[in-house]
Amino acid sequence: MKLSSPALFLCFQHSLKLAGVAAISAPCGQGADIAFNQTEKLFVTSGTDTHAFQADVSRLLHLMVHSIYSDRDIFLRELISNAADACEKLRYESLSNPGLVRDDAASVIRIEIDKPAKTLTITDNGIGMTRDDLILALGTIANSGTRAFLERLGQDSPKEDREADGGNGQSGTLIGQFGIGFYSAFMVAEKVDVETRRAGSDEAWLWSSHGKGAYSIAPLDADRAPARGTRVILHLNAESQDYLESWRLQTIIKEHSGAVAVPVELKDAPDQDPRKITEGAALWTKPRSEIDEAAYTEFYRGLAGQFDEPAMTVHWRAEGRYEYTVLAFVPGSRPMDLFEPERKGRAKLYVRSVLISADSDLLPGWLRFFRLVVDSADLPLNVSREMIQQSPVFTAIRKAIINRLLQELGRKAESDPDSFAKIWENFGAVIKEGLYEDFERREQLLKIARFTTSKHSGGDRSLTDYVKDLRPNQTAIYYLTGENSKSLASSPQLEGFRTRGIEVLLLADPVDAFWVQSVNEFDGKPLKSVTQGSADIKLVPVAEGQDTPSSDAPSAEVATLLAFIKQTLGEVVEDVRPSDRLSSSAACLVAGDKALDRRLEQILAQAGRAGSISKPVLEINPTHALVARLAEKLASGGDKALIEDSAWLLHDEARLMDGEKLADAAAFSARLTRVLQAAAG
Ligand code: ADP
Ligand code: MG
Repeated sequence: MKLSSPALFLCFQHSLKLAGVAAISAPCGQGADIAFNQTEKLFVTSGTDTHAFQADVSRLLHLMVHSIYSDRDIFLRELISNAADACEKLRYESLSNPGLVRDDAASVIRIEIDKPAKTLTITDNGIGMTRDDLILALGTIANSGTRAFLERLGQDSPKEDREADGGNGQSGTLIGQFGIGFYSAFMVAEKVDVETRRAGSDEAWLWSSHGKGAYSIAPLDADRAPARGTRVILHLNAESQDYLESWRLQTIIKEHSGAVAVPVELKDAPDQDPRKITEGAALWTKPRSEIDEAAYTEFYRGLAGQFDEPAMTVHWRAEGRYEYTVLAFVPGSRPMDLFEPERKGRAKLYVRSVLISADSDLLPGWLRFFRLVVDSADLPLNVSREMIQQSPVFTAIRKAIINRLLQELGRKAESDPDSFAKIWENFGAVIKEGLYEDFERREQLLKIARFTTSKHSGGDRSLTDYVKDLRPNQTAIYYLTGENSKSLASSPQLEGFRTRGIEVLLLADPVDAFWVQSVNEFDGKPLKSVTQGSADIKLVPVAEGQDTPSSDAPSAEVATLLAFIKQTLGEVVEDVRPSDRLSSSAACLVAGDKALDRRLEQILAQAGRAGSISKPVLEINPTHALVARLAEKLASGGDKALIEDSAWLLHDEARLMDGEKLADAAAFSARLTRVLQAAAG
């Protein structure tokens, strides 16, 4: 069987699951009362067009206004971030079209308070928007991950949400990740006006909305229009008048937007001069010694759109063959889009402080959880984004960065195992994709990988330590794959390994079933599934305090019983044989010697991808009292029907222990009842 891209496939599965769960619990129809196409005009009066929001936007706005935020402050962070993006876009475009900036080259973002008018205005001299831009950017939701986000928000009804967690929705920490930041303006404003002129354009536009299903667009008089860029005017609602206090705004700007690369000014009143609140210097260009942890955290939050602390910060300047600076973070929690099928990272690529791409292809999918900025003077500025990514310099820098990040992870694993354990818990499932995607770095990846094992439940066991503690005569690294490590730990498959004190890796991430197929060994020791083929552990001595299993061949009576069971089960199993791996259980299912791992087969079958599922082998514990009793019964001509029922029940029980469903629940129940009746009678 060929698996072209297991990682992509797994992500896809994950999103299906997410969508499935959300679809069940999302209340429908909230705020989605208007279902017009967004380009359809509702009214036209004196040059003003009124448009309905795309249904998703309406729903989002409804949720946003009615339910989800305790932390309304974030609207300012979002609007400042958009203004800064607009300035960066202008800088990029002006490389090929210097006429765009004319004599007003310095980017600036200005916040203006107008108490009498009860408005707060956010102005930038960035790229601005055309009429089409307005319709697309402020009337629809483009980001594909947003639907999942919306559905997640919709899982609680607004009222319950507010009561259940005091409105402290985790949602507030997620909003920046989804390309919906602009709409947060409606948390604080009863009406939002956007006055904008696209750089270099003769036309200017006024977009306006109360955030209730529709918005209007009209041409803007030349005397009101900005020369270039965008003015977002918030008509604050009654509950949000406190955002007219300048000390309040100053605190919010410093706290949430202090690391934005464009300076932010505050104008306390219409008749006063603006004062500078933040510097707007790109943080990564400063020497490390001048940056404190708070500044890094603040920058990380803006970059990642997350509100947590970074779990790891790496900042370096390379000065060898190529010069570049990297500032990279491992998030403190899982980003929402971590398992999206696109597997895209968030790497911002700058060339001499000009933003070239906000999501460049810098990192492979298995490092997509890093949030980072790369700035290089050695990349060509005068060519397109695509061409930059194809340049040999880019390739070389990319390779060096991947190596360095991996090295830093390894260092963290050694020097600070506790923090690393947290990182691994969040992102180990992603990093492990590298085990089959990146052959060159496999060895390194295996060294940093951490596991839960039958002897170490904490999820922080390394293969290096595993190999150090091999039992005498143990020649392989054993693993068991399944759905969760708790049920794996109690699997009957492990009994014989436990008896001999052999440690077994318990692999519960879906990705595990894939990489174990392609990783053959670590440190010269082959990896072997405990459920695959016959267990060859007889040479390993029994651990202290454990009973020595009988090494005699099964008696003739037991051999007859096994043949009888095999005949009874027929096509359902490949074989029935005596087991070395059981001590207290009577039976278990294993994969045939040449078959795929059973867990992998299950995953593929669930996704409808299996060609044909291979039949398992039923292993029977010849020393188990029940087995001995049944053998005796069969030999002495006992009730055959009852022994047949028992054979099926042993098989079904083994299936259940593997986390599988019964093939025929009704038959199972009838058999169980008959056997219980016999026992009672
Ligand atoms: P995101 O910033 O993640 O794309 P937002 O909801 O914050 O999502 O903004 C939506 C889009 O609106 C932006 O991508 C941009 O195209 C446009 N936009 C918002 N504010 C501005 C602005 N000040 N200048 C130019 N374009 C803007
Ligand atoms: Mg934004």
